[in-house]
Amino acid sequence: MTTGRPFPSRRLHGFGTTIFAEMSALAVQTGAINLGQGYPDTDGPREVADAAVAAIRAGHNQYPPGIGIPELRHAIARHQARWYDLHYEPDSEILVTTGATEAIAASLLSLCDEGDEVVMFEPYFDAYAAGVAMAGARRRVVTLRPPDYTFEPRALAEAISPETRVLLLNSPHNPTGKVFSRAELEIVAECCREHDLVAVTDEVYEHLTFDDAAHVPLATLPGMRERTVTISSAGKTFSFTGWKIGWACARPALCAAVRTAKQFLTYVSGAPFQYAIAHALALPDAYFREVAVDLQARRDRLVAGLDRAGFRVYPPKGTYFVTADIRPLGADDGLAFCRSLPERCGVVAVPNAVFYDDADAGRSLVRFTFCKRPEVLDEAIERLLALRPSR
Ligand code: PMP
Repeated sequence: MTTGRPFPSRRLHGFGTTIFAEMSALAVQTGAINLGQGYPDTDGPREVADAAVAAIRAGHNQYPPGIGIPELRHAIARHQARWYDLHYEPDSEILVTTGATEAIAASLLSLCDEGDEVVMFEPYFDAYAAGVAMAGARRRVVTLRPPDYTFEPRALAEAISPETRVLLLNSPHNPTGKVFSRAELEIVAECCREHDLVAVTDEVYEHLTFDDAAHVPLATLPGMRERTVTISSAGKTFSFTGWKIGWACARPALCAAVRTAKQFLTYVSGAPFQYAIAHALALPDAYFREVAVDLQARRDRLVAGLDRAGFRVYPPKGTYFVTADIRPLGADDGLAFCRSLPERCGVVAVPNAVFYDDADAGRSLVRFTFCKRPEVLDEAIERLLALRPSR
């Protein structure tokens, strides 16, 4: 039975099936190599998986505390202190969530009133637009443009209005692989201070940075710890994207606000995985370094391959994605290109246009992930070489 009114609600209008689901289904249908969706094809450290199994066997299988088990909150506090000299009180300033996705949604739901505005850079991760819409807020975007994906300080200033409540920042940045520099972050921080905005930062790729790029949390800049909700998760750092353990760190009043929304979204987050991630966060520095070094080699492999296949490539400084322009291949519509790519050569990519409000800005760009085994990347490159324009 229907009520005669279309589904879904107006707030969720236009947020149908995500492009990732469409492209992954296409990969299954055609047997193509899926370099569209970003998840590793190997598991994270064995000892972390063993810690999850041990937690299940030890009977940690009922509702854990809503804010997260103390072991994990303390481990997150130690992680923030170890890597960034940021100090959070585990009982009042740290909240465990069901992935970063829930932390982002809970932040937007608890910080925005109807009609408030949220400023973000585009291209943006698709969950941001949906989170803003579910909160009844409006998004305002500032476009990052290749080759270095920086922004005009004036464009950022112009995006801010008296209605702006939150600035949502993602660094290292999906889909471009950009790592915001300290100078860029200072401009962002100055905007937040001047207009009294809350910053919500998505730092899920914090440990996946390459070359000379280093991740700088916005909360480390002067005056920012007090007005920032710092969000991250274990999925990317430890290659357990399916466990969905994330967190938010913020001063007590902000953290309590996010907790208010979280408790009615999921109430609590997966108990045994929390024990395992507490263990993972305490791994030695070498683990974190090696993850980045290993991924950097895969980046180099795919960047070189895409280059050989004729794409114009923008090598990323972080994350596990690379953006490439298809125009040198004689095409300019990324969506049509990605829809036909599995048939043409057995590889799946994602069109960057879906990450933009200004679809023209991302029209000819497509995104590939390199968080796959080297032999899988090599096979994908081999297939993509068929696209080379004939001379
Ligand atoms: N933020 C960004 C920028 C991401 O790319 C992703 C995963 N693709 C997430 C958040 C989601 O993180 P989680 O799985 O921890 O919810």
